[in-house]
Amino acid sequence: MLDFEFSRARMIKNQLSRRGITDPGVLAAMGKVRRESFVAPDLAEFAYEDAPLTIGFGQTISQPFIVAAMIQHARIGPEDKVLEVGTGSGYAAAVLAELVREVHTVERNRRLGEAARERLSQLGYDNVSVHIVDGTGGWPEAAPFDAIIVAASAPSIPEPLKEQLELGGRLIIPIGSEDRQHLIRIVRTSATTFSQDDLGRVMFVPLIGRHGWNENSTQHARALSLLVANSATALPALDDPLFGTMFDRLAEHRIVLLGESTHGTSEFYRARAAVTKRLVEAHGFRIVAVEADWPDAAIVDRFVCDRPHPQKEPVAFQRFPRWMWRNRETSELLTWLKGFNIGRAEADRCRFRGLDIYNMHGAIDAVITYLEKIDPRAAAVARERYGCLTPWQNEPSTYGRAVLTKAYKACEDAVIQQCRDLLARRLDYESADVGAFFDAQQNARLVAAAEHYYRIMYYGNASAWNLRDRQMFDTLERLLGAKEKAVVWAHNSHVADARHTEMGASRDELSLGQLCREGHGAECAIVGFGSYEGTVTAAHDWNRPSETMSVAPAHSASYERIFHDAGVSPALFDFIADEALKSELSTSRLQRFIGVVYRRETELRSHYMEVALPLAFDAFVWFDRSEAITPIDGDGVRRGVPDTFPFGL
Ligand code: SAH
Repeated sequence: MLDFEFSRARMIKNQLSRRGITDPGVLAAMGKVRRESFVAPDLAEFAYEDAPLTIGFGQTISQPFIVAAMIQHARIGPEDKVLEVGTGSGYAAAVLAELVREVHTVERNRRLGEAARERLSQLGYDNVSVHIVDGTGGWPEAAPFDAIIVAASAPSIPEPLKEQLELGGRLIIPIGSEDRQHLIRIVRTSATTFSQDDLGRVMFVPLIGRHGWNENSTQHARALSLLVANSATALPALDDPLFGTMFDRLAEHRIVLLGESTHGTSEFYRARAAVTKRLVEAHGFRIVAVEADWPDAAIVDRFVCDRPHPQKEPVAFQRFPRWMWRNRETSELLTWLKGFNIGRAEADRCRFRGLDIYNMHGAIDAVITYLEKIDPRAAAVARERYGCLTPWQNEPSTYGRAVLTKAYKACEDAVIQQCRDLLARRLDYESADVGAFFDAQQNARLVAAAEHYYRIMYYGNASAWNLRDRQMFDTLERLLGAKEKAVVWAHNSHVADARHTEMGASRDELSLGQLCREGHGAECAIVGFGSYEGTVTAAHDWNRPSETMSVAPAHSASYERIFHDAGVSPALFDFIADEALKSELSTSRLQRFIGVVYRRETELRSHYMEVALPLAFDAFVWFDRSEAITPIDGDGVRRGVPDTFPFGL
């Protein structure tokens, strides 16, 4: 025989008390109602699980916690008259009946409603009336109510329910898309006014009826998509010379951050190239700073500035993920930049710079090579200092573990001292070649940052991410100086203002875009990029070969789905110019983030994040369908394609 008393007591303690249900009345009522009587006999043994259970007709009896939470949020008292919309099994109505004088509950499904009525009467709940109607219209016969609790989710708040609230009455209702919602509390503050607060994210079955969802369409999403369609600026084809001019407004800003929702989509590279060319050619931007390692970008920079490259110049971008920069789309832009720079005065050339810190090995080599030329004795000291890191040069991700086991002493002091020494000799060294010194000090800073990064990365918390984005920002600041204008290419996760994404809200992570906004305000503009489906170049795991993978159509509760339904592509959404669009889209929802690794099997968990998109970005560029980039000698695929400088071979 199952011990339901025991299970119920445990449920009260583990699922309710520990999660913030404190109202003694609610706890007592939850302790009295026999939940096992509200489910089919074969499900009785699961009656006190922390989950919703099926009750037939595609409906569920709500999870105990959510029943208790809604009732607690409704702040009901013993003399109250309450309306519940969505009787289902009748369980929540029974809990309410334990607490208040009079309960009305409405259910649209006749069979469920009748079964619940029968059950409640057998259990002796004589203060509950079950009505079988469309509850989106409330139950005017018994209105007004002190509280209304809606157990199914609506696209917006049904007017009749607000109207049926007593003065001071509370309405608790999940509002949102069909598969993700926020629980909202409305309080009637006067005959005509209501206050509203958000109680957090929830998931309910849909409220179907006149003032809820249409039986078979998602009206709200349609309305939103219509608005988006009307607000979209249609963009010309990518190879149309007018494409770049559509972004002329960005020239008002000093820092233009261009994102991407994957690290391997051709359209994002080509669109960013078109915008970049326009900003460089027509608006005086002279820095292209990308999410690539400094020493590798420096090799490319020599190419675009048409400088001779040294005999033993290393080959750029040998580290995973090589396709991110060794691809045809990037190569085309670099060739254009070189053409632009040829014949220009030194100061008027557009530079290609790397903001990232992974290539510690390359940076160490670059510092030593520099010092060998200018100060061989200092080179010997640097080699000695950096020797401490040699065992990890090729596999720096294991450095943190080694430091942790204390088998090795952290190389922290050595790399910081090296960086300080170099900076201290600035005047001596700079007189030989200002540009070369800047490059060397940047590499020395990279080594110090990378040492720190790999040391703390092992702990897997937010600090490693934050250190990396701060280093990117600091590098950008040094490049910008007092008057330069820069275009920045980095993933959406770096350019989005993290204060408006799950990264900042629940993981304490900051972002390059956030630091730019905090440091430069309206001088900076953040442009995100996204698509609905197609193909992408990515790897199944870190350090695995790249492949062309198909990208699943985006989740039904995502921004991508709204943009897809709007049916305009390619398109530009400008949240600075269009306040209405910004405010309609500001309630956070899912956005897809694919990096160098794409795991389609676990897509929702691995690649989606809750974002308030129009707050995290100033504008968004949309391609409904997008295709994989073409790697140049790509990590095991497409071998044999002829390669050119700057990518070596
Ligand atoms: N409170 C219930 C769970 C309800 S599930 C319990 O604990 O058992 C949501 C219920 O809302 C379903 O039974 C569904 O049929 C009902 N429903 C959906 N739209 C409705 C509408 N417009 N009016 C009344 N009930 C509705």
